[in-house]
Amino acid sequence: MALDGKIAATRALLAQAASDGPAALANSLSAEDMVLTHMIASAGLPITVFTLDTGMLPPESLELIDAAQDRWGLAIDIYRPDADAVAAYAANRGSAYAFYESLEARKACCAIRKVEPLGRALAGKKAWITGMRREQAESRAGLEPVEVDAARRMMKYNPLADWTWDDVVAYAAAHDVPMNALYARGYVSIGCGPCTRALRPGEHPRSARWWWEQDGAGKECGLHVTPISEGASA
Ligand code: SF4
Repeated sequence: MALDGKIAATRALLAQAASDGPAALANSLSAEDMVLTHMIASAGLPITVFTLDTGMLPPESLELIDAAQDRWGLAIDIYRPDADAVAAYAANRGSAYAFYESLEARKACCAIRKVEPLGRALAGKKAWITGMRREQAESRAGLEPVEVDAARRMMKYNPLADWTWDDVVAYAAAHDVPMNALYARGYVSIGCGPCTRALRPGEHPRSARWWWEQDGAGKECGLHVTPISEGASA
């Protein structure tokens, strides 16, 4: 499908999410989520936009929050991890950076800094929206534009599921969407500073996340649990 068709389909899905709402966009400060934020703001859709400030975000990502709010005049709600849980993690494991030591320790950090705040952000919502795309990772190859998030008992919209990276860049350029400065330094994935790096020649894009772990379906942070495609039995 040409980009114009994808844009129209995405706008229609966002409108559907708004009507299924209350709905919220989880903005990770990636290019994909900035594209969706632009579409929501320009259409005046009643969709909450929030971001998870894990306490480990790079300054380039934090700067983008103000840039988006100033440019589009919409508020981005910020959710932070529970301070006691963060302190207990560091105390019990000897370091706030114990996530390098094992998959269990990494997922425990993501649970505190991402998953729990996400639960608070989505409380009372009937639908949430992500900027995930199929080509980002093998674990996302089966991504559907509309799914049932059975674990959270709500609808989940992935309106950019079939977008390519070139589509995202083309839309951002055409609409003067502010981009995270990390992209200009070779980053293809936006996440916590200690767990994301610039891509090296020949690497799969997902290799830039948690690079010390083996590649595979485990390279997720727990925000995106296995969903059920719309139309399948829940
Ligand atoms: S991505 Fe890294 S720093 Fe961020 S929450 Fe997960 S383990 Fe912690």
